[in-house]
Amino acid sequence: MESVKKPRRVQYRCKRCQKTDRKGRLMAHIFKHHVPFDQAPFSCSLCSFRCQTQQHLIDHITKYAPHVKEAKARGVTDLRRYLIRSENPYTVSEADIERL
Ligand SMILES: [Zn+2]
Ligand SMILES: [Zn+2]
Repeated sequence: MESVKKPRRVQYRCKRCQKTDRKGRLMAHIFKHHVPFDQAPFSCSLCSFRCQTQQHLIDHITKYAPHVKEAKARGVTDLRRYLIRSENPYTVSEADIERL
């Protein structure tokens, strides 16, 4: 044996589609692929961006150049008006994954 085997990282499996990956990546996968758009805790009304924290969404809206430009063109100074908060949010948790 020439190559030294690295210890395997702990893998998790998505309970909905059997995909396996590292925990953080899998949580992101579930959020992206299995959470309905209107159940994302926060989403952007200008594009299909969605995320789980308000701060993350504000960062998106205020730093994504096309949005900043559009808001400016419309005379909008408070970009938070483009922020959508779901009334029925779904938060990805460890219950959605299983450790292998
Ligand atoms: Zn999945
Ligand atoms: Zn957006």
